[in-house]
Amino acid sequence: MSGLGRKATVDEADGAAIERRLHRVGRFVRLARALEAGGFYNGSKVLRAGADRELTIVAAPAAQLAHDEVAAEIDELAGDLAAAGYPSWFGRQLGVTAAAVRADESIPFQSAPPAWSCRVCGELFLDIPPTTCPTCEAPAIGFRNHEAVWYLEPSDRSSTVDALAHGPSQIGRVLEGRTDEQLDRRPRPAEWSARETLEHITGAEELLSA
Ligand SMILES: [Zn+2]
Repeated sequence: MSGLGRKATVDEADGAAIERRLHRVGRFVRLARALEAGGFYNGSKVLRAGADRELTIVAAPAAQLAHDEVAAEIDELAGDLAAAGYPSWFGRQLGVTAAAVRADESIPFQSAPPAWSCRVCGELFLDIPPTTCPTCEAPAIGFRNHEAVWYLEPSDRSSTVDALAHGPSQIGRVLEGRTDEQLDRRPRPAEWSARETLEHITGAEELLSA
């Protein structure tokens, strides 16, 4: 009973911390928008970085979710969004993602066309966006294309080459002195061991250099 009581306290504390961070996100984005409307773009970017930090920290525990949990949450979210008036294509696209995650299959680009949002009013578009926003009439240059993070985000050539050059020695330092048992240990049943991760990295490297 005392264990349960303690857990509830921890959950409440986590919930309050999450609420504080999400409230901060709202303040960051609201002020960023005010600055952008006034042309103070170099001021707003710091606030947008702050909002991204808060969202990244709040979302961190989700990295531990199993695939079936993620798929179930996506389906639940799709239902909520449909009730909130999101466009039907948005729900269908979430359905594609949930099905792929559940089947543990990668999502090819053809199944996930470009996703856009209007910077002015928040309207959403899929694939080829209109030339002007039907809601606020902002021109297409005002739309944001949401790239897939990590591998499609634009990065400059020198930092990419630098990371590739230093990768092997970094991995070598991390793996130095590890036993076979440590290399084959999976943090969780569905997660890769260090050895499997290394195989993935070397396989991807061969693919990218081909
Ligand atoms: Zn708009």
